[in-house]
Amino acid sequence: MPFVISLLQESSRQFPGTSRCKFLVEGQATAEHPLGVSQCGIYNERPSACRVYPTKFDKAGELAVLCEAPAPISGSSHPAHRLCARPWEQQDFDPIEQVQHLAVAKFEMNFFFKLAEAWNARPRDWQVFPEFLQMVYSNRIRAEADCHEGECDETDQEVEARPIVRFPRLAA
Ligand code: SF4
Repeated sequence: MPFVISLLQESSRQFPGTSRCKFLVEGQATAEHPLGVSQCGIYNERPSACRVYPTKFDKAGELAVLCEAPAPISGSSHPAHRLCARPWEQQDFDPIEQVQHLAVAKFEMNFFFKLAEAWNARPRDWQVFPEFLQMVYSNRIRAEADCHEGECDETDQEVEARPIVRFPRLAA
């Protein structure tokens, strides 16, 4: 059974009847900003998906492509669903930081795919999954002396082709 890990949603105080990310700090409406200005309450610790939004890598994986702002929710006329006052522009983003965020997100997604592959090769009770995550992520740094023979000298192509996932395993 597939699972999705997502941020919790809460009811919006600013716009009753709509929901928002649990970490969004809603600002009061002002004359200048009648819909209010809201901010991320965990900005420095926000997830990778939030950091890269609304960009993606180009086909070469070198440049950030700015995606179009999504249309309001279909059929909704609620003002909370029209908060993008204008399209995003290049100048809204740091050209160095944004590409770095994308590179990290790509690395972490590939790492997670391998983690999922390792879990699915020997699935256990779902209750054990958090322990598995904890074990994998707390063992991401290794001493050079602990690398298996030749492992640390592999080329990128060899690493890419290697079918074995080197994650620590839960005890049987
Ligand atoms: S940036 Fe992410 S974590 Fe922060 S409020 Fe928005 S959706 Fe939530």
